[in-house]
Amino acid sequence: MNPVRSESTRRRGPALDVAVVGGGMVGAAAALALARAGFATALLEAREPAPWRAGDEVDLRVVGLAPSSVALLDELGVWTSIREARAGAYAQMHVWDAATGAAIHFDAAREGRAELGFIVENSLVQWTLWRALDAAGVRRLCPAEVAAYEAREDRVQLDLADGESLSARLLVAADGAGSPLRRLAGIGTRGRDYAQLGVVAHVATERPHERTAWQRFLPGGPLALLPLADGRSSIVWSLPEDEARRVLALDDAAFRDELGVASDFRLGRIVASTPRAAFPLRLQLAGRYQAERLVLLGDAAHAVHPLAGQGVNLGLRDVAELRDVLLAAREAGGDIAAAHVLRRYARRRRSADTLDALGFDALARIYAWQAPPLVAARGLGVRLLDRLPPFKRLLAGHAAGR
Ligand SMILES: Cc1cc2nc3c(=O)[nH]c(=O)nc-3n(C[C@H](O)[C@H](O)[C@H](O)COP(=O)(O)OP(=O)(O)OC[C@H]3O[C@@H](n4cnc5c(N)ncnc54)[C@H](O)[C@@H]3O)c2cc1C
Repeated sequence: MNPVRSESTRRRGPALDVAVVGGGMVGAAAALALARAGFATALLEAREPAPWRAGDEVDLRVVGLAPSSVALLDELGVWTSIREARAGAYAQMHVWDAATGAAIHFDAAREGRAELGFIVENSLVQWTLWRALDAAGVRRLCPAEVAAYEAREDRVQLDLADGESLSARLLVAADGAGSPLRRLAGIGTRGRDYAQLGVVAHVATERPHERTAWQRFLPGGPLALLPLADGRSSIVWSLPEDEARRVLALDDAAFRDELGVASDFRLGRIVASTPRAAFPLRLQLAGRYQAERLVLLGDAAHAVHPLAGQGVNLGLRDVAELRDVLLAAREAGGDIAAAHVLRRYARRRRSADTLDALGFDALARIYAWQAPPLVAARGLGVRLLDRLPPFKRLLAGHAAGR
């Protein structure tokens, strides 16, 4: 697959309906979904993704895909290759509190399902989507960055950093949490910096992961052990920044010992580990999801704490909603980027994302409580929730995107 770089393609391609900026998992899924829905679509990405190869070490960045995301990827015709390439199904989730031992357990069988979700590599999802773009008729421009844009009466004009220009009816910003397009559109954000880093690595454990996503809440932040297809677990260990830097600097043996203690040896000793990486964690919600002829989606619109493993799932729900709203506008014979159309997308997704993001934030705050009466109340509350099947079903259904 060669990136589309030719000047002629940039200047003389067919008139575009949609220009998607950012070809991460969310932007690539958006471009594919919109092209499949019959919209003339271009995808602009600053950096060519590295090819995913089965023989390579498992990418350190993995996500838990909820059933709603799997359904969308399946609809787009890419799920079977992702699943066959390397996807770790998890059928149970066990979340427990280091301070009180109170636990909540989810079991797919109780929901009548084979699994709760799949742990997959970001690079595999992105690469599989990219491979499907050409056949769907998406014009790929890579490397490409938007330097400026102007919304006009019937189109939006994009000036690219290399001096080229492009026009489309709608501009979709899927350019990540730092979204340059969001800034160009003058859209602010609110939220908070958790002053934490998420330390990630893959580890081999003494005991099997039992196709279970484990998460232990510790005073410094949650530690998740997510089951990989190859039998290892992928960890996301949220720690205060200084503590995270200390953990990153440990030698392998000391790291494995500390991780074993932090995981309460739930899977026994940690017997092997890959190199580690870390990502800053923050809550960030865009003040608006739409501007004239522009919408935000994915992390450009919302970045959330990874404790619920929902970031990309929210982004893929944005994709499905945007496609449906644009299809309805086209069927009604109107301008797909009319303000009322974009407002419909923005209203639906922003309220859903905000509720989720604030819910995850509330969880992070509750688990940060250290005062003994509050800790006791938390333990009681969690034990109570675990004994309330209807509430658990509701939570599981929500996480699944139903
Ligand atoms: C430690 C950690 C663990 C996580 N675990 C989970 C999990 O279990 N489940 C889950 O759902 N989510 C998880 N997430 C969140 C998830 O990784 C993100 O929500 C997701 O990657 C966002 O995808 P995106 O496509 O919106 O943005 P990105 O992946 O950031 O992609 C943005 C793309 O835009 C491109 N770009 C940027 N600027 C420009 C420009 N000017 N022009 C052109 N292109 C540009 C970038 O190169 C990039 O390719 C986790 C996050 C972290 C940090």
